[in-house]
Amino acid sequence: MSGGLLRWPGVELLTEPRGRGMTKQVLFAGADVDVRYFELEPSGWTPLEHHGHTHRVMVLRGRGACLVEDTVRPLAPQDLVFVPSWAWHQFRAAADAPLGFLCIVPAERDAGLAPGPADLVRLRASPAVADFLSS
Ligand code: MN
Repeated sequence: MSGGLLRWPGVELLTEPRGRGMTKQVLFAGADVDVRYFELEPSGWTPLEHHGHTHRVMVLRGRGACLVEDTVRPLAPQDLVFVPSWAWHQFRAAADAPLGFLCIVPAERDAGLAPGPADLVRLRASPAVADFLSS
């Protein structure tokens, strides 16, 4: 993957302190949905969380993987990911590539909740999920 971070003229580049190596650009907001572009540096990740609202994601650049509830899948450009209500989810960039993706959310939405110890034990019971979370 060559080239730098995808940018849009006039769109502020925000850092997302809940993630690692994670930036956010809000492309559309204030109507029924918000459309955001997130980019993760190599080895970056989004916070592991769940919430009542859904995500509709399309990968635009780079490479990585995501966890949605109990399923881990690799990600490449044009891949589509739907995150259902209350599914645990996390996106991770590959060690040697960034991961950039659009994420569409309802404009009115609840805040993300982090897992508690019991949630982590249950998630890590799957070897694939445990590998993903320690990657
Ligand atoms: Mn989320």
